Amino acid sequence: MTTKMTTRLPSLSPTKIVTYLACDHKYKWTYVDSRGKWFIRSKSYFSFGTSLHSVLQKLHDQNDVSVVNAEDAVNALESNWVTEGYASADEMAEAQARGKEILLEYVDREVTRQKESRTLFVEKTLVWKYPNFVLRGRIDRIEEYPDGSLEIIDYKSGRETVLEEEVHNDLAMAIYQLLLQKAYPDRDVRCTIIALKSGHNATSKLTDDEMADFAFQIELLGNEIIGTDFDLRRPSPKPLCERCDFLSLCKKEPDFAENFRHYQDQQTGIEED
Ligand code: SF4
Repeated sequence: MTTKMTTRLPSLSPTKIVTYLACDHKYKWTYVDSRGKWFIRSKSYFSFGTSLHSVLQKLHDQNDVSVVNAEDAVNALESNWVTEGYASADEMAEAQARGKEILLEYVDREVTRQKESRTLFVEKTLVWKYPNFVLRGRIDRIEEYPDGSLEIIDYKSGRETVLEEEVHNDLAMAIYQLLLQKAYPDRDVRCTIIALKSGHNATSKLTDDEMADFAFQIELLGNEIIGTDFDLRRPSPKPLCERCDFLSLCKKEPDFAENFRHYQDQQTGIEED
């Protein structure tokens, strides 16, 4: 009797790909080399976003009746509040008060708005298998319109405004559009970002030609990422380093500490000619 062996393909998400594009070493410390995990610090803005997202998920989930009005939303924020990353109790209380304001305004807008769509999914994970990796994305909300078209909704908890071109050029939104289009090839798919602080939103979509090119480029990029031997790469100083969790780790790599010192001197203009 033979046993069939299946190998699991590596998985890539918008967050992983954006991290790699920002800095390959940041990708290495976050996803490849386990030493990195000891250096990752909780961030208050992630906690804030996660707290708001969990309430909005309940609000829009047709099968969850625990949040249907503003009072429910505020109570849900308190019970789903993520505490990590805040510098003090005062900072956290201020953030929670701001979160409640955002939710009150959001629910008010949602209640008064004439909605022609219906919510199809909340927090929906979609995947698409390429030959060498799996592309994976978790979409905040998907709306379906009477004409069959689909709208991807993405909440940005830290933003006041959003422009159409920002939606159009956003890598995560393009990946979501690609994944949803693969799942529903005969539907029209568009993407909307909602800036939660103000309620501003903007919508865009990639054309068929742009989507075909993006699908090709993302496969190339995915193959590059999973084919990279990160041990052969050397970190290079960049603006991101100043506030990076992994700076002390990178400083242990050959030459980086000295290169980083030169880089900082250049930035402050004290390097000698
Ligand atoms: S310190 Fe700089 S080079 Fe090192 S992981 Fe962070 S951003 Fe990348």
